[in-house]
Amino acid sequence: MAKSRTLPTPAVDVADSYAVRLMQHLVVPTFVIDPKRRVVIWNMACERLTGVAASEVIGTGKHWQAFYETRRPCLADLVALDRPEQLPEYYSEYAARGHNGLGFSAENWCVMPKLGSQLYLAIDAGPIHDEAGRLIAVVETLRDLTDQKRAEMALKELATKDGLTGLANRRSFDQMLSDEWARAQRTQKPLALLFVDVDHFKLFNDRHGHQSGDECLRAVAAVVSRHAVRPLDLAGRYGGEEFALILPDMDCDTACNVAEAIRCAVTALQIAHGAAGAGDHVTLSVGVASHIPGGADGGPDRLLGAADEALYVAKRLGRNRVMCAERVLAEFAALGRQAATVPASVRRKSA
Ligand code: GH3
Ligand code: MG
Ligand code: MG
Repeated sequence: MAKSRTLPTPAVDVADSYAVRLMQHLVVPTFVIDPKRRVVIWNMACERLTGVAASEVIGTGKHWQAFYETRRPCLADLVALDRPEQLPEYYSEYAARGHNGLGFSAENWCVMPKLGSQLYLAIDAGPIHDEAGRLIAVVETLRDLTDQKRAEMALKELATKDGLTGLANRRSFDQMLSDEWARAQRTQKPLALLFVDVDHFKLFNDRHGHQSGDECLRAVAAVVSRHAVRPLDLAGRYGGEEFALILPDMDCDTACNVAEAIRCAVTALQIAHGAAGAGDHVTLSVGVASHIPGGADGGPDRLLGAADEALYVAKRLGRNRVMCAERVLAEFAALGRQAATVPASVRRKSA
């Protein structure tokens, strides 16, 4: 059936030879441009992949329109122009396989205007030279990796996000905290950390049931996440009813303001609690610490310990409050205990 099709005649000098015919019927989506970057071959698999007929692009430089909405070079153009330095500008994954040699490989989400749905394409483009070493064509082949990419993204989501709240899970939070700690060590800017813990949550579950408990956690998580406003801020679910917020380049006072805003926002939700020993509504206690890492500091353990102690003191002082690590010593003295005896492990059962 396909064999009887009349193929469009290339505008430039491409003989309708056996080799060209083979390429037209190749199952791999392929197109070829000449040194002036005009399309000379646009095979049937490429028509199927892009929804663009060969007759629309042969002899033109409009091949980009099959993939993108706004004008930009395709991989074959970058090979024809020998511009490996522009690969990072246009592709999320890329490799140049030898200067002016084997061409380039890249991967990208493409808009595919004719199809109306995005495709993730793996693209290879290689130059063809004559005996004198002059470029005579560039061949671009395409592979549709959309299904694999979607599966990979879903797996990544599962591996990094907490299922109940959609916040970063403990593992990815820990990773991010290490990365930000290392960055703060380089930049010598303060890194702030908030530990946000729901007060009397065991009693909440006992009174309202586990499902209402889950809803409450989702509502608190949404508030915490709303306060991670800058690009590098990160909200995570640290443990059962405990959330954490990484705030790079923020001092303790500013971080305390963020913590107070979170505490007030959750109070304003007026989630009924009412268990004996708890208040009428769900409240939070928040421990805050901010450090500029010293050169000898290994990891972020000191920051975690300080925020944890601050949270412990907030609980001891009666809950529903923000406690700053820098004020822990004074507050603890007021409780009539030696600050040095505050054991960081007292409250943290899961760490
Ligand atoms: P405190 O004010 O001192 O923090 O007391 P608390 O009761 O909040 O703290 P505790 O650590 O004693 O209890 C935490 C409770 O959180 C116990 C556990 O059943 C509940 N929890 C942990 N994860 C989940 C969850 O995913 N869903 C629900 N509904 N409850 C959870
Ligand atoms: Mg709690
Ligand atoms: Mg807790």
